[in-house]
Amino acid sequence: MAIHRKGQFLRVRCLDCDNEQIVFNKSASNVKCIICGKTIVRSLGGKSKIMAKITEVIR
Ligand SMILES: [Zn+2]
Repeated sequence: MAIHRKGQFLRVRCLDCDNEQIVFNKSASNVKCIICGKTIVRSLGGKSKIMAKITEVIR
């Protein structure tokens, strides 16, 4: 790929169980909550849709 896109790590809170975990916002695959299994990051081919509440952006 010619274009390098930087991703960011985000701290997110699951809407269903209030678990917090760190996710990458350019994830190549879906990320599920480690507690309840809800999909919290949905991969959309190069970018990701965050399905949870973002509580912190980690640089
Ligand atoms: Zn959860």
